[in-house]
Amino acid sequence: MIQDMTWSTAQEMYGNPLPEIVESRLTKELKSIVGYGYCTLYAIAQKLVSRSLEDGYLVGSRGSVGSSLVARMCGITEVNALPPHYRCTHCRKGFFDVDKSQYHVGVDLPDRDCPECGEKLTKDGFDIPFEVFLGFEGDKVPDIDLNFSGEYQNKAHHYVEELFGHDHVFRAGTISGLADKTAYGYVLKYLEERGIQAGNAEKERLALECTGVKRTTGQHPGGMVVVPLEYEIYDFTAVQHPADDLESDFTTTHFDFNSMHDILVKLDCLGHDDPTMLHELEKLTGINFKDVPLDDPAVRSLFTSPEALGVTSEELLCNTGTYGVPEFGTGFVRGMLEETKPHTMEELLRISGLSHGTDVWLGNAQEIIANGTATLSECVCCRDDIMNYLIDKGVKPKLAFTTMESVRKGRGLKPEMEQAMIDQQVPDWFMDSCKKIKYMFPKGHAVAYVTMALRVAWFKVHHPLAYYCAYFTVRGDGFDATTMILSPEAARKRINEIRNMDKPTARDKDTATCLELVLEMNLRGIRFLPVDLYRSDVRRFRIEDGNIRCPFISLPGLGESAAVQIAEARKEGKFLSIEDLRVRGKAGSAVIDTLRTHGALEGLTETNQLSFLAGF
Ligand SMILES: [Zn+2]
Repeated sequence: MIQDMTWSTAQEMYGNPLPEIVESRLTKELKSIVGYGYCTLYAIAQKLVSRSLEDGYLVGSRGSVGSSLVARMCGITEVNALPPHYRCTHCRKGFFDVDKSQYHVGVDLPDRDCPECGEKLTKDGFDIPFEVFLGFEGDKVPDIDLNFSGEYQNKAHHYVEELFGHDHVFRAGTISGLADKTAYGYVLKYLEERGIQAGNAEKERLALECTGVKRTTGQHPGGMVVVPLEYEIYDFTAVQHPADDLESDFTTTHFDFNSMHDILVKLDCLGHDDPTMLHELEKLTGINFKDVPLDDPAVRSLFTSPEALGVTSEELLCNTGTYGVPEFGTGFVRGMLEETKPHTMEELLRISGLSHGTDVWLGNAQEIIANGTATLSECVCCRDDIMNYLIDKGVKPKLAFTTMESVRKGRGLKPEMEQAMIDQQVPDWFMDSCKKIKYMFPKGHAVAYVTMALRVAWFKVHHPLAYYCAYFTVRGDGFDATTMILSPEAARKRINEIRNMDKPTARDKDTATCLELVLEMNLRGIRFLPVDLYRSDVRRFRIEDGNIRCPFISLPGLGESAAVQIAEARKEGKFLSIEDLRVRGKAGSAVIDTLRTHGALEGLTETNQLSFLAGF
């Protein structure tokens, strides 16, 4: 099935016969995938993705699966691992005659029309080696990780159970150990209770012995273990409810999945905000995410200036227009954007790689770029860069691959790797950079994430109302309707206060993130409308006459169940009084107080008395 689907999609995209480059890549991949028996895994992932798409939710790929062109052909990932190229969706033809020294990412290519039919060509290809996914011999155990919409994740999990049977699918269990600080606390308590005197060294020794001992069990956020038909789970592990909770719906493996990694298959079906955002945006605008261009100049300009939004840096307190754009919205990444001023998708992919690695940017690429040793396009940003660069330099492919693997796992360079690099005149800064890296992103992951980010950013520029409405519905943690309806001056003041805090709490940070978006939205002429008994939705923000109506749950202390009851009661007719709201809407006094303070009860009398009088 996987082979048939691969060849038929490839021919739909590139014609029959296939261009040599496509044919040889697919032949090579299928040889390992089929040869090592990974087709089943591909087929499972394919079924999950296509079911989610049928239900209206796109799926993002994670990890290195974007390095597989077969995965692209089966719809498991959107990432096209081929070198940059053009293709005509009309004539079903590929054009690979591009200047590879200048372009590494298809989206960055100049526009071109089809020489045969004159239609605008699609620009594609991210130039990702397959080895990153299945290893140099094609024998590495692959992980297929998928990002479902958080709203859809449960359905995806149930579908896996439906496919394989309830008793063959389990949640991956986790075991969490005692943290060192907690262990130290236990030791102090133990000694104190027993009146034992001990020196600091002894206390630390005892704490060290306790650290890492099993404290509790839990479940992996999205990992599902699939047991082959001819086995049962007890052949591998005991099972349990997480954290000994008998009421829990889930059954997890008792042992941590890491200890079964090489014997059982795990599917990672995680929940993520990006697919939910795009689902909302599609619903609000009627525009399919597939029709969103990735090379829009206004969108591209957001990464260096907010002007495309019609606001200035000073008004916005930000030199980029990326508030709320996934991957590029945090203060840390905005700082990277200011230092590197990216103009191409390739540069954005590099920044995504740099921002997700450990010891890849700070104390590493940041210094290399700042002191002019190398440019952003030359730096080591994703693991694939190492292998590609070394092969280009003349290092043997197999050694280039093992070097990449060693560096990305934080193991630095072995002597033979360093020697090979010296032999091929690899510059010192490149080797130093490799030695510092502790963890690195695969390019396939960066492409999947940046693609999502560019789509969301496109809606932000061209459909602001829908964008802010979806943003606050999906990602509005920290939104509080009682304080968020404030003027730009007040918002700026509060943002600056939080930015200047020595140790802002997580809550402060959420508030600042929210206020940044509130400020930007106001500057673009869109306001929040207060909670209204009849017009507010339970939990969704709603577009109303060019502004956005806050939902009930955006009021602090107003929970979803209370909101649902009010929404149900209003269907039966207008509330006659606050008492009526209390009785029919089952609103407690705290809820009434919140609504009252917020001004949502204006015009309502306390009791029904007046209307009774009117009836006489
Ligand atoms: Zn054509």
